[in-house]
Amino acid sequence: MTEPLKEIGQKELVVSATHATRLKEFTCKTCGYLMDACSPSEQGVNPPEVGDYAFCMNCAAVLLFNSDMSLRHATEEDLIAEDPDFVLYIFKMQRDIRRGMAIIKRMEN
Ligand SMILES: [Zn+2]
Repeated sequence: MTEPLKEIGQKELVVSATHATRLKEFTCKTCGYLMDACSPSEQGVNPPEVGDYAFCMNCAAVLLFNSDMSLRHATEEDLIAEDPDFVLYIFKMQRDIRRGMAIIKRMEN
């Protein structure tokens, strides 16, 4: 799916829908947020694959792609099995998402 750049104010912003991949619907058990698409964390990254991690974009819960490309919540055992540097990267991304969501919520109030 490709969408043109959107203009917001004076700045152009590449919206996440540019590289969005349609998913089986998934409801986050942590916050109840319904997801049906995902976007890569970096431009130009291919669609997700089995075993890739993802985040709920409402609460930043850590998710994992199953063999049928459905999502599930990652467990502590999943993370313990990963490279420690990669797990630190996951937690940094989670923190950044939460900070971003907190800023957006403050802007809406
Ligand atoms: Zn959530």
